[in-house]
Amino acid sequence: MSPRQPTAIDASGAEIAAKVDAARHAGAVWRRRTVEERVKVLRALWKVLAARRLEIRAVVHEETGKPLVEVDLMEFGAAGLLVDWMTAAAPRVLGDKAANKPWSLFNKRAYERRVPRGVIGLITPWNMPFLIPFGDAFAAMLAGNAVLLKPSEWTTKTALWLEAAVAATSLVPTGLLSVVPGGGAAGEAVIDASDMTVFTGSMKTGRAVAVRAAGQLKPVILELGGKHPMIVLADASLERAAAAAVWASFANAGQVCVGVERVFVEGEVYDRFIELVRPRVAALRQRLDGKDADLGRLVFPPLLDRIQEQLEDARKKGARVIGGEVLDRENLLMAPALVLDARMDMRVMTEECFGPVLPIMKISRAEDAVALTNAGQEGLAASVWTTDLVRGEKLAAALEVGLVGVNEPSSHYAYGALPFGGVKKSGLGRRHGDEGLLAFTQAQSVVIHEWPDASSDPWWFPYDERKAGFLRKLMGLP
Ligand code: NDP
Repeated sequence: MSPRQPTAIDASGAEIAAKVDAARHAGAVWRRRTVEERVKVLRALWKVLAARRLEIRAVVHEETGKPLVEVDLMEFGAAGLLVDWMTAAAPRVLGDKAANKPWSLFNKRAYERRVPRGVIGLITPWNMPFLIPFGDAFAAMLAGNAVLLKPSEWTTKTALWLEAAVAATSLVPTGLLSVVPGGGAAGEAVIDASDMTVFTGSMKTGRAVAVRAAGQLKPVILELGGKHPMIVLADASLERAAAAAVWASFANAGQVCVGVERVFVEGEVYDRFIELVRPRVAALRQRLDGKDADLGRLVFPPLLDRIQEQLEDARKKGARVIGGEVLDRENLLMAPALVLDARMDMRVMTEECFGPVLPIMKISRAEDAVALTNAGQEGLAASVWTTDLVRGEKLAAALEVGLVGVNEPSSHYAYGALPFGGVKKSGLGRRHGDEGLLAFTQAQSVVIHEWPDASSDPWWFPYDERKAGFLRKLMGLP
């Protein structure tokens, strides 16, 4: 039995109703602010939060055990980069846009206005407990919405810290970011009370969220994880590729949706690649206190046994498994594992393995790895490693994934300008980029007849051939 327990206390029905009410009221005030005003307020809000970084770092570390450096760079640093891009882009993306008009409508004015959706429900996981809720809440608020946040039961304190810290600034209406703690039932209540839901987590729960929202004809954005294949070509810079494989599969103890989940290496360089990977894995420092550490513990207790089963399956099928022992069951600590000579019939090569496991498989040509990737049901992230950038980009284009890198593992999330999300069963819709901001709004198309003010338009009743002939000509009809 793990001493690690969920930190959520289920909110009661009355508490949830109060949060929903607060968010609705705050949203009604907030949506009346112009985009420029929201930008100004939210920039100031981020400044106040950023000044409290050490406080939130301690909370995130307590709930997840991740190295302090990772909290700083991946959770907080990346959040700052998103704030920079979003606040710079918001006036352009969310501002009114004049519509091109056919010249037969020359005496009218038309434009597109972006209208906030209302209340956005965020259902978030435990692996990035600050970055994911904060980034999505920030974008939603920037677009003029209120937010109801249902964090993972395992990282409730981080979300409650965020709610309290935002409220303490008094910069936004009270309740604009409201946290609804609890398990699945709280998540369902959030879907029911929101105008749109953004969910990050497992495929199984993602499907349940989509079904519930669809029953109410409400939109969802889903980000459901993947099985990042790193495809290493014989001409790659093997030093960089080996360092990247180790970092991108063991960062956050392997609990990253875009993290490297498997490596396909062309036969000629397979042994050399492993020679370069092994000492790097052996040198990883694993500690629970987060200081001078490269690697921490797992967050979600059931994963420890599931990962052990995946490793056992690989062993039984003939893989060489190095490491991976359970070091401290109570504290969910397992050694990083290398799975050498992996094959596609092993679970580690096809099932998401949300932990510190790096399977490596020999292939004869990179194209084989592309075909194996595309045969899978997920399509979040992938990367190609080669010094031939033209070939690399061509292979990248052939991969059925939403996020792809050439000699680059997984920095996409930090680019506010890049849409982030997956294809196939890895998700629906995108966060970030212009489309990520626009997703938190709906279009209202506006047409204004300007002059002459008392006139009827020539295509109105009564129809007559003389006017129709003129209009046919204007419309270019043969
Ligand atoms: P889940 O997908 O079960 O949970 C994600 C979020 O959804 C949590 O806040 C969870 O609440 C909530 N939730 C659970 N049931 C419902 C429901 N019926 N309606 C609405 N919301 C609900 O992920 P887990 O935390 O259980 O992790 C399991 C697996 O998910 C991992 O092993 C990993 O494979 C994958 N995962 C993927 C991530 C990604 O980034 N794509 C991130 C984290 C996990 P609560 O936690 O309180 O039950």
